[in-house]
Amino acid sequence: MPDFRSDTVTQPSVAMKERMFNAALGDDVFNDDPTTLELQRYAADMLGFEAALFAPSGTQTNLIAMMSHCQRGDEAIVGQQWHTYKWEGGGMAVLGSIQPQPLELQSDGTLLLSDIAAAIKPDDPHFARTRLIVIENTIGGKVLPLSYMRDVAALAKDKGLACHIDGARLMNAAVVLAPQHNTTPQQMVRWLCTGFDSVSLCLSKGLGCPVGSLLLGSANFIARAKRVRKMLGGGMRQTGILAAAGLYALENNINRLADDHANCQRLADGLAVLAAQLPALQGQLSVLPVQSNILFTDISLELAERLLPYLAECGIRLTSSNYQSTNGAIKRVRWVCHLQISSADIEQTLQHITDFAKLN
Ligand SMILES: *Cc1c(COP(=O)(O)O)cnc(C)c1O
Repeated sequence: MPDFRSDTVTQPSVAMKERMFNAALGDDVFNDDPTTLELQRYAADMLGFEAALFAPSGTQTNLIAMMSHCQRGDEAIVGQQWHTYKWEGGGMAVLGSIQPQPLELQSDGTLLLSDIAAAIKPDDPHFARTRLIVIENTIGGKVLPLSYMRDVAALAKDKGLACHIDGARLMNAAVVLAPQHNTTPQQMVRWLCTGFDSVSLCLSKGLGCPVGSLLLGSANFIARAKRVRKMLGGGMRQTGILAAAGLYALENNINRLADDHANCQRLADGLAVLAAQLPALQGQLSVLPVQSNILFTDISLELAERLLPYLAECGIRLTSSNYQSTNGAIKRVRWVCHLQISSADIEQTLQHITDFAKLN
């Protein structure tokens, strides 16, 4: 049954498990786990960095990055909706003594360059020291374009700041942008990272690994990051068993993200047709634009009260939250497509919603 809650729910395939089972292992804290070293080298080469570091989660790779760029009392510029600011338990402040400076997002998911520039504090004892700009791509499924990424990196350089990409789903962005730039996702991701000091990449989302994230940066930065990872308890031992999954994912699961994007678009198109045609849904369900593998639909509270339990009964798993739209309170439902959602699952989901609308 389709589980649209997140692309984190993906389970390792048989081929991925075989790679894990057969992985050569060492002790990664002693720096001699060969498979982890291979993954770090492979990822660094692919994304165009000197070095990489494997860690248990994307929350940790982001925190390690922020703590490696910033000292106690430094400031990081973030978006109000960034994962690093809103969804990581305040870790940068709690564990890093880093002050976040949040900025409002534009509707396309970007931070205005002029807002970033205006938030940079002068060297004055009244202020925290602005040290880092964090950008998230994709953000809520929205893809930030290459030109924007280049502009942010240039601004950071111009102002003497470090810049980090929370690229939990950066490969999804690369897969969307590659055809627009006549290139491969692998080349695209390098271009997206150019000029940035560090990137955090989740292996355990659309790429399909059970566990793991990578942090990439200069050799110097990764050496500092390794100390922070140890402090945070992220130094692990026979990590090759996990790193093998990462290697499998980077070799096999990048290009196929396009299937998830196509499924997500098909779901959005199908829902839009149903919302227009079926009286039970008319004016109650609106479909937001899809750019990658995440779709949001806004559902009236009245419809949500009946539809969401119905879908749960059909075995369709979703996340939703109350949301204050310009038309009042609504339920915003998130549909995430990933390697365990097939096109048949999409058709079946649309059929369940059609059946619901005919009964109601
Ligand atoms: C999922 C996610 C992370 C990290 O999540 P973990 O569950 O800690 O691996 C970081 N940033 C973004 C944008 C994410 O979506």
